[in-house]
Formats: sequence, C-alpha cells, structure tokens
Amino acid sequence: MQPVQKFDVVVIGGGPAGLLAGGRAGQLGMKVAILEKMEKPARKLRITGKGRCNITNLKSYDDFVGEIVPNSHFLAKAFGNFFSSDIINLLESNGVPTVTERGQRVFPASGKAWDVAEALVGWAKRCGAQLFNHYEVESLLVSGSAITGLKVRVNKLSESIVFSCKAIVVATGGKSYPATGSTGDGYRFAQQVGHTLTDLRPALTGIETHPAFSFTGRLTLKNVQTTLWVDGAVAGEEFGEVELADYGLSGPAILKLSLKSVDAFRSNRKVRITIDLKPALTEEKLEARIIRDTSRSGYFSLEMLLRGLLPPPLVPVYLRLMNLKPKLQAALLNEAERKKLVGHLKNLSFEMTGYRGWNEAIVTAGGVSLNEVDDSTMASKLVQGLFLAGEVLDLTGNTGGYNLQIAFSTGWLAGQSAAAFVQKNA
Ligand SMILES: Cc1cc2nc3c(=O)[nH]c(=O)nc-3n(C[C@H](O)[C@H](O)[C@H](O)COP(=O)(O)OP(=O)(O)OC[C@H]3O[C@@H](n4cnc5c(N)ncnc54)[C@H](O)[C@@H]3O)c2cc1C
Repeated sequence: MQPVQKFDVVVIGGGPAGLLAGGRAGQLGMKVAILEKMEKPARKLRITGKGRCNITNLKSYDDFVGEIVPNSHFLAKAFGNFFSSDIINLLESNGVPTVTERGQRVFPASGKAWDVAEALVGWAKRCGAQLFNHYEVESLLVSGSAITGLKVRVNKLSESIVFSCKAIVVATGGKSYPATGSTGDGYRFAQQVGHTLTDLRPALTGIETHPAFSFTGRLTLKNVQTTLWVDGAVAGEEFGEVELADYGLSGPAILKLSLKSVDAFRSNRKVRITIDLKPALTEEKLEARIIRDTSRSGYFSLEMLLRGLLPPPLVPVYLRLMNLKPKLQAALLNEAERKKLVGHLKNLSFEMTGYRGWNEAIVTAGGVSLNEVDDSTMASKLVQGLFLAGEVLDLTGNTGGYNLQIAFSTGWLAGQSAAAFVQKNA
C-alpha cells in the first residue's frame, strides 16, 4: 500500500488534546494533519459543562493537582509548560473572553462550549494544521521500534489509505460518551505497540442505590451535606447539590464522590451514602424546631410539618419512610417517631448497588500506564515518534475544569515534543 499523504506529525483525534497538539506542532513549523473520525472535530468539547464548557480552574497549582488521580506529579512538566492562564490567554486572543465563577471555575463569557471548540479549531488551522474529518485511524504502522505512519479509513469506505509520518500523537480520548467519537480506539493503538493499560472504568458517574426514588424529572437537593461510607468508615464528604434519579443518586456532589465510590464498590466493599438535608442544624436544634412547630395551636398535620422541612416532592417519600399517615396530627408524634424523623432528615441513607456506565460517565478512569510515558515530553518510552495526550492517559480529574486542562496541557506538550523529535531526526 503506497502512502497517499506525507506529513511530519499526524495527530489522531480532533478533541481538545488533539487540537492543542496539532496547533502547537504547526506553530513550530511542522506539516501537521489532525485526523478526526467524526463529521466534525471536538464533539465532546461542544457538550462539556452542560453546554457551557468549564474550561479550566484558577486554583493554585498545589490545589489543582490535588484534584487529579492517580499520579498528578506526572503533570508537573506539562502544567509548567502550559497551564490555566495559558489556555485562557489563547482563547481570549482567539475571540473567546472568559469569566470565573464559584469554585474558581472558568467558562466562556458567552456561556457556549461551542465557541470554545470553534476557536480552537480555527486556531489550530491558522497554526497550519490540516484537519481531516471522517478520517478514522485503524492502526499504527511501526518499523522496528519507530513510527512510520498509520492506516486510515476515509468516510467508512472499505479500502484503507496510508499516511506516512515521523511522529504520531494519540489523542483519541477515553471510552465515555461513545456517541461523541470517544470509543477507546487509542487504548487499542497503545496496546498494539506494547503499552500496558491500567484498569479502565467509568468515572464521574451516577451511583445506583437502594432505595432509589422516582420523581417526574429529577429532584435536585441544594445545600446538602453528603457523606461516603466505605465499610462503615467515612471515605469522603461533599457539600452542595445532589440529584435524586430513578436509579439512585447523581449531581455535582455525587459525581465528585463517585471516583472513590466506584473503586470501593468494584473491590466488593460495602459502600453507603448518607445525605444530611439540614446541615445547618444539629440533631438537637432540629428536634427542638419540630417540637416548636408541632406545638402550634390548631390543627397541624404531619404532611404540613414535612412541607416546612423538605422540598414538596420528598414529602410522600418521608411519609413512606416513617410509615405514617399524612393527615396524622403532628402533635401526636411520640418521641421515638420524632427522633426517627430527625434521623431520616440528618442521615437519609442509600446503599450503593452499582454505577452508571460508559454512556453516562463524564470521563474514563485508568488508561495508558504513566510508567511507560516520559512526563517531560509525553513520548512513549516504548516506540520512537509516538506521543500520547489527554484522556487516553491514566489521569483523571475531578469535576471543576481539571479534565480539560489535562487535555490542553498534555496536548500542547505532546505537539511541541513531536515537533522537536521530527526536527532532531530530519
Ligand atoms: C458530558 C460531559 C461533560 C464534560 N464537561 C467537562 C467540563 O465542563 N470540564 C472539564 O474539564 N471536562 C469536562 N468533561 C471531560 C472532558 O470533555 C474530557 O476529559 C476531554 O474532552 C478529553 O479530551 P481528549 O482530547 O483527550 O479526548 P476527546 O475529547 O474524547 O476527543 C477525542 C477525539 O478523538 C476522536 N477519535 C477517537 N478515535 C479515533 C480514531 N480511531 N480516528 C480518528 N479520530 C478518533 C474522537 O472522535 C474525538 O473527537 C466532560 C465530559 C463529558 C462527557
């Protein structure tokens, strides 16, 4: 098979890592192709942050890396080379002003993830990278232990074509939200040339529980304190929003706790989540408030009492939990029943029975083993001319803009290093 296209650097994947890698290599004078299997690049980026794109986070370096597992030290050089202020400057100088919100999270001022994607695509092209949509890489071509090119299927035609190149950046993302094009192909490419994968599992995902409560739509609980228990010991705590879904729990606080929950559950440990719906009140104060409310003059039903304490859709749930009739006069609650109610308000308890899979997980935990990648260049330690960037690596950030920054920083460094490799081996 004759090469039909010759490039210095070929980037596989037009997501945030691939666009940064391609643009940076182009800036450094390389002839660059970015091959994207979908009809347009950065489909996942366009839906990030519920369509608003949490681009990065302005936390200090130390706090930032504290949100990344399993080995954030691996990112020291990539972050030292290109960090949050750099992506913000790049976007702002390409027509996307940004705003910073609660928790130091950075968003495009327009509130549109689409604007971020278009700006990065435009920037990569202006840097000289050529973008090929509907170009699906099938396999890497290696001679000895050096990259020579790759095999590509265009527009799903049966005949493959060959791209020849000196360096490849694998920026194919993870396995989550496969409809966006991230179907885990990069793991296959890495394994094809001898790389090891760590355990791949859905992360930042909903947790299936018993009990699970079904409402029309989801019910969001705001300002609640959520505690994760593993084998009876506290393993994590989050304050904020929780969503009650028909399968169990989701929402920002749960997604943050899901990294630990999923791993504990997979190791057959007993995982429980409790929600404190009244974190501002101690049990004593809450009980005193209930006594005060129930001793009001006139008829005051249990249902009316609960309506003062809970979001309305939760009232029937609590009546079921308490096994009491809605019209019961609240003043007739005995001490044991009152304490049981306080217990359910301060410790609504859920046993973890599973977790949501690849179609719903925000990211993939696990990936190409970091032991086999040079942290100062993102180069494979096994194959000359091979570089890896973004979610394909065994790096996972929490919610808050960390995952995109990992993609931007490793992409930038991989593109820069691929260019240096080509120049050295010219
Ligand atoms: C719903 C959702 C919301 C999110 N919100 C945020 C957020 O607000 N902030 C944040 O920091 N992170 C967020 N993330 C995570 C973030 O989007 C990812 O971590 C990030 O996109 C990873 O970038 P990447 O470039 O490594 O991979 P991807 O964005 O997955 O891009 C990989 C690209 O490679 C292409 N590709 C794959 N295989 C091939 C092949 N064989 N040939 C050619 N092309 C191929 C794919 O089509 C895809 O375009 C969110 C994720 C999801 C699913």
